[in-house]
Amino acid sequence: MNVRDSEHIIAELSSKENYALTQDVQEADLILINTCSVRERPVHKLFSEIGTFNKIKKEGAKIGVCGCTASHLGDEIFKKAPSVNFVLGARNVSKISQAVKNEKFIDTDINYDESTYAFGEYRNSIYKAYINISIGCDKQCTYCIVPHTRGEEISIPPELIVQEAKKAALTGAREIFLLGQNVNNYGRRFSQKRDQKIDFADLLNMISEIPQVERIRFTSPHPLHMDDKFLETFANNPKVCKSMHMPLQSGSTHILEQMKRGYSKEWFLDRAMKLRGMIPDVSISTDIIVGFPGESDEDFEDTMDVLEKVKFDQVFSFKYSARPLTKAAEFTNQVDSQIASDRLTRLQKRQDEILDAIADEKLNKEYEVYFDELRNNSMVAGRSDNNSLICVKGSEELLGQLLKVKVTNPKRAVLYGEIVG
Ligand code: SAH
Ligand code: SF4
Repeated sequence: MNVRDSEHIIAELSSKENYALTQDVQEADLILINTCSVRERPVHKLFSEIGTFNKIKKEGAKIGVCGCTASHLGDEIFKKAPSVNFVLGARNVSKISQAVKNEKFIDTDINYDESTYAFGEYRNSIYKAYINISIGCDKQCTYCIVPHTRGEEISIPPELIVQEAKKAALTGAREIFLLGQNVNNYGRRFSQKRDQKIDFADLLNMISEIPQVERIRFTSPHPLHMDDKFLETFANNPKVCKSMHMPLQSGSTHILEQMKRGYSKEWFLDRAMKLRGMIPDVSISTDIIVGFPGESDEDFEDTMDVLEKVKFDQVFSFKYSARPLTKAAEFTNQVDSQIASDRLTRLQKRQDEILDAIADEKLNKEYEVYFDELRNNSMVAGRSDNNSLICVKGSEELLGQLLKVKVTNPKRAVLYGEIVG
C-alpha cells in the first residue's frame, strides 16, 4: 500500500509540478520519506534517516514526511526534526502539490475522502499495476494503529477501479494487484450512496472481464470475511491467481478474542482446509504476531499447531509491538520481551524447516511464470500463478512474457529453473 501511495505521489508531482525521479539524494530538490507506523522500530528509523538526509542533501532541498507516521505524529515531527518542510498523512497524498509549495505545510486529516479522486498515472513496473480498492480500515484489532492513521474504511467506486485496470492493461500490465486493508469487505460503504450492491467477489469477476488482464492478485483479505461465495469465486475464476494471504495473527481462539479478530482457530483452519481441498496447488501465506499481551505457552502452542496443520507457503512473523492509541497497549498483562523473542525464534526456525520440505517437493514441477524483473548475473525473475518467485537465465526479451518453467533447483525463497515452453 505504501508503494502504491508513493506511485500516486510521483504521478502528481511529475504531471502537475514538473518533478522527475532521481535515486541520487545529493541531486534531489525534494526528498520524500513515505513511512509506516505499524511497529515501533520504523518510527525510530525515520528520525535517524531525516538526520542523515539533512547532512547530505543539497542546499535548499526540501524534506517531506508522508504516510502513517506522518498521520500519527503530525506536527511533533517538525518539533523533533526542524529540517522537515512538510508533513502529509497517509490519507492526504493528493495534497502533495500544495505541500511542496507551502513552507511547514501539514495535513493529517483522516476524515478527508480520497475515494473518488482520480490520481495521475505512474507505475514502478510496466508489467503490473497496483490499484487501491478501498482506503482506511473499519476493524478495531486491538494491537493495530492503522485505523487511527488511515481513518474509516471507504470503498472506491467499482467503475473507477475498472477504468484504472483497463488503462493499466492497455499500457502493458497483464497483472492487476488490488489493494486494501480488508479487501474482502469491499462494498460495505462508499463515499456516495449507490443503488446496486456489490461485493469483492463481484469486483474480481468484473475485472477479469477485461480481455488484456491475465492475472489478478489482491491483499489483504480478512479471514473473517472468507465466506463460501468469496472462496468459490477465488477458486473458479481462472484469472484470479491461486495464492491467498490469510493473516492468522494468532492460533489461539482466546488471544484472537483479545485481539478482536472476530474468528476462531477452528474457523481459520476450516477456511484454509476448504481452500486446499478446492485448489490442490494453492499457496497460503500469513502474518503472525507472537507475544501479544496475555499470550501463554499454551496459546503459543496453538499458533504452532496451526503452522503444522496449514503448512503455510510464506509466513511474515512479528514480535508484538505496543503502539500508541491502541487498546492492547493499555493491557496490563504484557509478555516478557525475552519470552516473546524466544517464541519468535522457535516459530521462524520451524517455519524454515517446513519451507525446505515444501521447496524439495517442487523439483521438476512446471509453472507458468510471468517475468517482470531483471536480476544480476543474467537472471530474469517472475512469479508463478501461486506466487513462487522463479528465476531463469535470460535477458530483457523475457520481460512481460508468460512462459512455462521447469524447476531444476528449488530453494526456500526462490526456485531456479529453465524455460520449457
Ligand atoms: N490489514 C492487514 C494488516 C495490516 S498491518 C490485516 O488485517 O491483515 C500488517 C501486519 O502487521 C499485520 O497483519 C500484523 O501481523 C502486523 N502488526 C500490526 N500491528 C502490529 C503490532 N502492534 N505489533 C506487531 N505486529 C503488528
Ligand atoms: Fe489493522 Fe486489523 Fe485493520 Fe488489518 S484489519 S489494518 S490488522 S485494524
